[in-house]
Amino acid sequence: MANTYNYHADENGMYGEFGGAYVPEMLYPNVENLKKVYLGIIESDEFQQEYKALLKDYVGRPSPLYLAKRLSEKYNTNVYLKREDLNHTGAHKINNTVGQILVAKKLGKKRIIAETGAGQHGVATATVCALMGLECIVYMGELDVQRQAPNVARMRMLGATVVPAMSGNRTLKDATNEALRDWICNPEDTFYLIGSVVGPHPYPDMVARLQAIISEEIKWQIKEQTEKDYPDYVVACVGGGSNAAGSFFHFLDDDRVKLVAVEASGLGIDSGETAATIAIGSKGIIHGSKTFLMQTDDGQIVEPYSISAGLDYPGIGPQHANLFQTGRAQFLSATDDDALEFVMELTRLEGIIPALESAHAMVALKKMTFKKDDAVVITLSGRGDKDMETYMNRFNL
Ligand SMILES: *Cc1c(COP(=O)(O)O)cnc(C)c1O
Repeated sequence: MANTYNYHADENGMYGEFGGAYVPEMLYPNVENLKKVYLGIIESDEFQQEYKALLKDYVGRPSPLYLAKRLSEKYNTNVYLKREDLNHTGAHKINNTVGQILVAKKLGKKRIIAETGAGQHGVATATVCALMGLECIVYMGELDVQRQAPNVARMRMLGATVVPAMSGNRTLKDATNEALRDWICNPEDTFYLIGSVVGPHPYPDMVARLQAIISEEIKWQIKEQTEKDYPDYVVACVGGGSNAAGSFFHFLDDDRVKLVAVEASGLGIDSGETAATIAIGSKGIIHGSKTFLMQTDDGQIVEPYSISAGLDYPGIGPQHANLFQTGRAQFLSATDDDALEFVMELTRLEGIIPALESAHAMVALKKMTFKKDDAVVITLSGRGDKDMETYMNRFNL
């Protein structure tokens, strides 16, 4: 039942051969300092009290674990949806930004920087900066600024400065480079708030711990609602991998619980228009950590594609690379069309319009076979409001 392998980060942030902190010398002091203090801060009673109070009264936790009856009937099993879509700002990302803003405050930082692709992490960061009265600068690829106008407006309304990144393809990777450059120039007063389980150690572990509230709640909720004290499966979509890492966290050492991660394969794994890193990627270093990434033969990052902006990332967190390599988690992929099918299915069977990202996780219902008495928990990472324009076009609404 219990196994002895360590799926968590060791003191150097290694998950097996993955992880670590591959950063330029200029960034070393910032990363090293955070590494020394982060665990002490987030495990302190003072932090835990503030963090838990905000999760309850500001974010609206615990999020429900909902037995989806009509969906369960269709797939002849028991499907439980972990409702991260009901959180303030509409997704799981706020769990992490609430936690990191408290870490930043404890460190006496006055200025928060972040990078964002589609703008979801930028909005979650701008939200907690408004809450705490801290300056917020969000780097965003210039192309993404154009494509994601509503989120840019939200960030500005919340008081953030949105800085367009003009280099490269003018997307997420370029925004990340700009954010890192800023951090190098402002090591004293600035905190870099990363949005997923990616980046140099200690970020992957810190973000996983701040999202671990998801599995902490699933544990007691499944016990409350079933005869068992564990789910048979936990399923989540993976972009960088933070909602999956949080959903898996407290089950990593319990072999009874099967873990399933779903990547976005875009137009198909071999189409050249994909974000399925585990399926087509290879080992390398991205954003300061060793993991799998989508790269050319000479190590240039390949621009990813998925209909869902949150899964459109060319790497994957180092913990997931290790979960894949050790076989602890099973990795599936879902195309744009698969995801759209499940957007409509969940909407019509349960009256819940999911985010495009979350619909990728639902595709496991079609790709796997579950037993009648299995408890299958699927994390519904976000709500579909942000994707309505896509739905209007695709479904002729
Ligand atoms: C950002 C986002 C994701 C992907 O990020 P992870 O770090 O892989 O969790 C998934 N779902 C939603 C709704 C998102 O906003």
